[in-house]
Amino acid sequence: VIDHGVPEHAIVTTCAYCGVGCSFRAEMKGSQVIRMVPHKDGKANHGHSCVKGRFAFGYATHKDRITKPMIRKSIKDHWQEVSWEEAINYAASELKRIQAEHGKDAIGGITSSRCTNEETYLVQKLIRAGFGNNNVDTCARVCHSPTGYGLKQTFGESSGTQNFDSVMKADVIMVIGANPTDGHPVFGSLMKKRLRQGAKLIVVDPREIDLVRNSPHVKADYHLKLRPSTNVAIINAIAHVVVTENFVDEEFVKFRCDVGSFNKWRNFIADTRHAPEATESITGVPAADIRAAARLYAGAKNGAIYYGLGVTEHSQGSTMVIGIANLAMATGNLGREGVGVNPLRGQNNVQGSCDMGSFPHEYPGYRHVSDKATRELFEKDWGVKLQPEPGLRIPNMFDAASDGSFLGLYVEGEDIAQSDPDIQHVHHALRSMECVIVQDLFLNETAKFAHVFLPGSSFLEKNGTFTNAERRISPVRKVMPPLAGHEDWEITQMLSNALGYPMNYSHPSEIMDEIARLTPTFTGVSFEKIDQLGSIQWPCNEHAPQGTPTMHEETFMRDNGKGLFMLTEFVPTHEKVTQKFPLILTTGRILSQYNVGAQTRRTENNVWHAEDLLEIHPHDAEDRGINDRDWIGIKSRAGETVLRAKISERVQPGVVYTTFHFPESGANVITTDNSDWATNCPEYKVTAVQVAKVSHT
Ligand code: SF4
Repeated sequence: VIDHGVPEHAIVTTCAYCGVGCSFRAEMKGSQVIRMVPHKDGKANHGHSCVKGRFAFGYATHKDRITKPMIRKSIKDHWQEVSWEEAINYAASELKRIQAEHGKDAIGGITSSRCTNEETYLVQKLIRAGFGNNNVDTCARVCHSPTGYGLKQTFGESSGTQNFDSVMKADVIMVIGANPTDGHPVFGSLMKKRLRQGAKLIVVDPREIDLVRNSPHVKADYHLKLRPSTNVAIINAIAHVVVTENFVDEEFVKFRCDVGSFNKWRNFIADTRHAPEATESITGVPAADIRAAARLYAGAKNGAIYYGLGVTEHSQGSTMVIGIANLAMATGNLGREGVGVNPLRGQNNVQGSCDMGSFPHEYPGYRHVSDKATRELFEKDWGVKLQPEPGLRIPNMFDAASDGSFLGLYVEGEDIAQSDPDIQHVHHALRSMECVIVQDLFLNETAKFAHVFLPGSSFLEKNGTFTNAERRISPVRKVMPPLAGHEDWEITQMLSNALGYPMNYSHPSEIMDEIARLTPTFTGVSFEKIDQLGSIQWPCNEHAPQGTPTMHEETFMRDNGKGLFMLTEFVPTHEKVTQKFPLILTTGRILSQYNVGAQTRRTENNVWHAEDLLEIHPHDAEDRGINDRDWIGIKSRAGETVLRAKISERVQPGVVYTTFHFPESGANVITTDNSDWATNCPEYKVTAVQVAKVSHT
């Protein structure tokens, strides 16, 4: 910790980075933050934090912050600073013009998991009520949308089942496609504590993550080092062992699940094509290891599954989430502490942004826009007629922009020009639009295509709430005034008023009151209660006034209360390795950096990690004459970029790996437009590439 003096007072707030959602005391001297200290009463972190959260305040006052609204007629022009009134009126008049000329569906908006619940709620309300369409989406589209889909289908609710502390009751922990040490460090430490106490560990990952053998006193009992893109084959093989070796919890299935769906699934999964021996050639994992790992998980008193983007960001991301849910139900590992299906969310408010109705097909609380009763509820409260058809998803917006039918976009807190796949297509779409409005802290990559820039507020400059990966709604509290004069929710409100749809909130607590009024799982939530309890896990309503640490204890959230089994046929990805593209590129995170790095690169975190590297196996490196730190050209079917090499046995032969925190490395220049069949979540984790040593300065 860098000591900047003695604090005069402290304000408790929540980290704005990962889905752990650590509670912090922002220690202040006057109106200046001098230290962020992890809060010992924080229920998600119990006084712990990682290096990202501790130094997060660095970006809030960074010199790159934009503090004045700006407009320009063309993206070739220079920005002009204008008053808030002029910027908002210009943005509104352009959006109205586009709708008058091209129809009401020609505009839309994208919100972000970095925004608070209240901000996200307001953006989707602006679009549904103010724009008059459902063209709203969130960056969760590109990370955990398959979680939303898969868990809603099977369990009836789009959320993880446990609180973090539940891991301390797990006997066997299965980590699939996640790297908690780097991605969710505070939870990763808690998991390691449980492992040091003797819990067993199964890691399913193409790469040797830290948990496999590099953490002190922690070593995976089984590392199923599968080929990227073969998740579904391996989860089916594990389930096959459960079903054919009598590990099914018949009691749980009989009383808690839809038995008809289970019987169909049992017949499907018992087929010998799913046997570990039959899938060995697909996954590359020895059948004996799959059998042993399956027996370990299924035989546990409490078996818990934790997963990340290595599950969701695939063409079968939703299928894999369903496969995990099937496995947990079949083994009775749900509805109590120590078990469950636990998505580790990348961003602080992924859960919240999905809860708040920022998908084009769902209102807050995951209710479909075609549901008449729900629509009428919102129509009555909002005083407008709402559209019954789902709107455009992010990739559909880009496609429509490229063909000239989508021309106006409002983007709050999301850098789509850097973080979305097949960047060339995204850039072309943005260039084709007539009015792009970016609301952000910095002139990010997307702002290069913008006509209006509305300077946003950091997490230290606003009031609101974030919802972490365990459904915990935690307070975000203003510790200093917004540098640009307005909190983000106020900017959205100004835009709505200028468009002619009146909003008149005086504080975000009023927005939360509206959310609670309209959302059955939130009816007991208020700022007052959050301040009293410190945080609340939804569902919080008349059945659970203090919130719900463990989901599905008595019944599932589906209409009939029963868990649904679904069939999970393995379908190989379209992204094939060939002679021309012989290696598979997969991606992940590093501890000191956060996503596209717009924030962490502007903090002291850069001391630890200042560039993205390409990990390559020694055999593949030797074949190509590549040495450590050589510059490597990487080419895919979508594009090409250059990175430095890091020779490492953590990756298997045939697989290369990189992080995606620095815009200059351009990881998304090479990712393709393949996506999940159900949700369009991009297949970031599988890109066929060729690599070769290049000279580069
Ligand atoms: Fe906690 Fe995640 Fe923030 Fe680190 S980045 S302090 S683990 S919330």
